[in-house]
Amino acid sequence: MSGYRQGDSGLILNEPLLWEKGKKGRSGFSLPTCDVDEAVFDESFSGEGPDFPDLSEVEVVRHYTRLSTWNFGVDTGLYPLGSCTMKYNPKTNERQAGLPGFAGSHPMLPEVRAQGALKLMYDLEQFLAEITGMAAATLQPAAGAHGELTGILMIHAYHLKNGEKRTKMLVPDTAHGTNPASGALCGYAPVAVPVGDDGVMRVEDVRSLMDGETAGIMITNPNTLGLFETHIKEICEAVHEKGGLVYGDGANLNAIMGHVKMAELGVDVMHFNLHKTFSTPHGGGGPGSGPVAVNKTLEPFLPVPRVAKEHENYTLVTDRPDSIGRMMTFYGHFGVMVRAYSYILTMGGEGLKTASSHAVLNANYIKERLKEAYHLAFDRTCMHECVFSDEKQHASGVTTLDVAKRLIDYGFHPPTVYFPLVVSGAIMIEPTETETKEDLDNFIETLMAISEEAKASPELLKAAPTRSKVRRLDETSAARKPCLCG
Ligand SMILES: *Cc1c(COP(=O)(O)O)cnc(C)c1O
Repeated sequence: MSGYRQGDSGLILNEPLLWEKGKKGRSGFSLPTCDVDEAVFDESFSGEGPDFPDLSEVEVVRHYTRLSTWNFGVDTGLYPLGSCTMKYNPKTNERQAGLPGFAGSHPMLPEVRAQGALKLMYDLEQFLAEITGMAAATLQPAAGAHGELTGILMIHAYHLKNGEKRTKMLVPDTAHGTNPASGALCGYAPVAVPVGDDGVMRVEDVRSLMDGETAGIMITNPNTLGLFETHIKEICEAVHEKGGLVYGDGANLNAIMGHVKMAELGVDVMHFNLHKTFSTPHGGGGPGSGPVAVNKTLEPFLPVPRVAKEHENYTLVTDRPDSIGRMMTFYGHFGVMVRAYSYILTMGGEGLKTASSHAVLNANYIKERLKEAYHLAFDRTCMHECVFSDEKQHASGVTTLDVAKRLIDYGFHPPTVYFPLVVSGAIMIEPTETETKEDLDNFIETLMAISEEAKASPELLKAAPTRSKVRRLDETSAARKPCLCG
């Protein structure tokens, strides 16, 4: 049994592969004796099947249950991964998504049999449009980056319709990496807009870079430094003056929903991350949803089919000559839509606004309490996340990675590190709205203790983590050549 002992280290279980467990002849089920003649499945099949292990039911259950406890999730503890909005998602929304009428509906049902699902989609599009002040929305895109692609394809179609073929797209240095990639997929060469000393874009820079060859700008607001783009209105005007359009990356909507309408700032098209802001758990590659909302100018270009309402009857409309076409085989990830719909209805307008307020308050609380111990990249009011660096730890040779690894020893999931790229050695913390003050204080005090350790005994940080299943991985090889035997 390959030296397997349960509980080598407290409750950290050692778990062998299923192939290393079990014993010939064990079975996970029992069937009554066969009372018909055995049939040969395939004449050419020699009888040598794959070498699956013989396991009892409880061996299988324990194996997978143990593995599941090695996974860290937002249900386990604070998950301060900046830029990701790893917020707690109320369980009632899961329950609604699991209702048989929703979970069991098939995308090929005739419209008359899918009126409830279509109504939900129609209403959700209206809610998202209302939250952002936009004219219409589509739920089709499968994730944020897919929403960006959808939006930029619409900007491309708009310019083409006007007889223009523009070649460039402005993308600020604080943009998410998917932004320049989405622009490039539509054939636009990304042009970088620098970040001012205060962490936001300057109008002059945009004005000098914007020309008749440039299709528009992609703005993340709040940006990836967690700062509100204070000059966004003038920036949008400068882009519009030259005939360009403004794409708004709304992945950070958790900071501003209910407070700011993107359309009123001058944004023409934007995406949402339902799996960040609107109650779908994410990470690990589960289904996402990146709806896109547009103003009147871009509405004709929305993907088909569109959900339409005539009297109390919902239909899917495909006859839209300016549409960019389909972005998904069917209509998007429906289960994610149900969670978002349920979340919006249970929270209500005021509730969504309060969620943003608390997310921003929590981030500012962390920023203020930790700025003595860790260098703050931009010392000003932040939105839903704050960005520190390891500058104060340089003297003792301690880096951001060491701090992150030491947090694991204390039982915390580390924040996002080394992103955004504009801050060297970045430590990016996004607490979200649902954390209690006690939990935030615990996290803050742990980071303070680590900063003291960095001065007094940096070797503790260099050796961390010591209490996890694995120590420091070669992160490149771990992603490319994963070793799955634990
Ligand atoms: C997460 C994120 C995206 C990409 O969204 P995906 O759903 O992961 O494709 C884009 N922009 C920003 C600012 C993000 O935080």
